Amino acid sequence: MEDAKNLLPNELRSFMVSLEQPSYRGDQIFSWIHKHLVCSFDEMTNLPLTLRQRLKEIAYITRLNVRSRNEGKKGTVKYLLETYDKNAIEAVRMEYQYGITACLSTQIGCKMACSFCASGVGGFVRNLSAGEIVDEALRIQEDVTAFGANVGNIVLMGTGEPLDNYEPSIKALRILNAKSGLGISFRRMTVSTCGLVPGILRLAEEEIPVTLSISLHAPTDDVRETLMPINRRYSIVQLMDAAAYYRERTGRRVTFEYALIRDINDSDRHACQLADLLREQSGHVNLIPLNPIDEKDYMRPTTIRINSFSKILQEASIPVTVRRNLGLDVNAACGQLRRRYCR
Ligand code: SAH
Repeated sequence: MEDAKNLLPNELRSFMVSLEQPSYRGDQIFSWIHKHLVCSFDEMTNLPLTLRQRLKEIAYITRLNVRSRNEGKKGTVKYLLETYDKNAIEAVRMEYQYGITACLSTQIGCKMACSFCASGVGGFVRNLSAGEIVDEALRIQEDVTAFGANVGNIVLMGTGEPLDNYEPSIKALRILNAKSGLGISFRRMTVSTCGLVPGILRLAEEEIPVTLSISLHAPTDDVRETLMPINRRYSIVQLMDAAAYYRERTGRRVTFEYALIRDINDSDRHACQLADLLREQSGHVNLIPLNPIDEKDYMRPTTIRINSFSKILQEASIPVTVRRNLGLDVNAACGQLRRRYCR
């Protein structure tokens, strides 16, 4: 069975041609699914009845089941979604001054096992399909349609490592970009990675100008290895080279995420090392005070420490922001809601 939500407009056109239909039927189906948010062929009233009947026999349209919406402050809503095989995934809706952002998961669980992150705690279950990733955004779009809004930004920063589920993740972005669907510009999309160097190099060749966000979290290999096992495969130097290549090839600035963890990576010395490391990169640093998780005893630094760390970067002319903790009150980011559900 073919999942029609998994297909790009050109693939839906070929699919129609393979059924001896005119190719524009593919565009009609794409817009039913991605603009009108329809999840059954029966509702596609401009298709001939016989075609709808045939499609029901050979295809389906993924629809995640919304199990709960957890509302936090300032328009943040955490969605707990259920897949057809009864796995739980998370997506988050955030409202910023520049519109609604959907933060999407790309895998069920995660293999990367970063020591401070809840997503890897239960291990890896399976990859999400492009259709499932897209549907996370469509579930959010369905809700905001009610107040006349649109999902305008996509960040692949939910559970999972997008570059470890490369094709479906990138395909989902292409589907979300298609004009006859949500039509979200690639410049308003961010791919976040823990540092899979070959994936970064491959992404640089896709000719989709998405923002690359690198979860760095440490200025030296010694510290990074204690937090992120991936650093044993790809060192910081390799990662910096890949980031520079991405910037050159796409003309897009790279963002570096840095979760501040008390007494682990938050000293003034770490800040100076980070400034040295990033001086050549012309990247932007996003400091995230750690969101403590139940499974680990890492703590977030004091506000004084956070400010001191950020000041050192500013003084070194490294652009830096401290992330608002939109997630904290809704257990957002980092797989915490899903963990609660699975327990
Ligand atoms: N695998 C990708 C995307 C998912 S994680 C990546 O690693 O980038 C999204 C971001 O949340 C990453 O920067 C991740 O390191 C960070 N994160 C995970 N657990 C966190 C926690 N407990 N507190 C703060 N940030 C966390």
